[in-house]
Amino acid sequence: GNWKKISAADQSKDELYEMKITFNRMIDYLRDNFEKQEMFVSDASHELKTPISIVKSYSQLIKRRGAEKPELIQESAETIESQADRMQKLVEQMLLLAKNKDEEVFEPFDIVELCRSTGETFKGAYDREILFNSTTETIYVNGSYDQLQQVVYILMDNAVKYSQDSVKLSVRRSDHRVEIHVQDNGQGIPDREQEKIFDRFYRIDKSRSRETGGTGLGLSIAKAITESHDGTLTVSSAFGEGSTFTLKLPVSQQN
Ligand code: ADP
Repeated sequence: GNWKKISAADQSKDELYEMKITFNRMIDYLRDNFEKQEMFVSDASHELKTPISIVKSYSQLIKRRGAEKPELIQESAETIESQADRMQKLVEQMLLLAKNKDEEVFEPFDIVELCRSTGETFKGAYDREILFNSTTETIYVNGSYDQLQQVVYILMDNAVKYSQDSVKLSVRRSDHRVEIHVQDNGQGIPDREQEKIFDRFYRIDKSRSRETGGTGLGLSIAKAITESHDGTLTVSSAFGEGSTFTLKLPVSQQN
């Protein structure tokens, strides 16, 4: 019949074939990562180009016309400063994204306290009603306090930026997870945009968001941190009616 003797040569041929597949997979993986890096660098340069050219043109304006029109100096300096602030923010956020998450020390802490104190910070900083609610006194999660505070901060900052009314921050436990909701009654996010807002540099309205100081990096930082904590970050929103961002994290054994 169809029986065939397997020779040593055949076997090494199979091994070679396996190796080739593994090798090709490795190359694909490296290429994907390389392309992502390349894209990040190209997007980042693009984002920095605008403030750089604004700074340059205002400096030229001062040089050319500053002597004859001194009021130009003050105006230009203000623009230069605000563009420098923008570049600073961009660079700080890019560094946050590039940071190696594995270097952070994870330890158990009370996430209810984290949310309550972040809510307080916002109440103090903005003239806006912040409503806080938690179904339990304490819930321990395992992670980096600073990083998770950053996540809640980003979500609260957006809620305040993209709405006019009160912002609700709530914590509740469901089984082995803790859910944190940040809810606003603002402009909302159209369905087709809801996945894209987590992409690096993505902003729904680039020009408006530039005015509010948005870089489009906040949510991608929040998502990366959440994932390094085995959590999920999602949004549910109706355009014109507001948005609710939900952060879910596994609770620590220590509860
Ligand atoms: P940005 O620095 O622009 O706020 P983010 O990554 O935090 O960057 O958010 C990306 C975009 O998602 C924002 O530019 C905005 O268009 C939209 N967005 C985020 N949060 C909200 C919200 N609470 N309500 C409406 N739109 C939002």
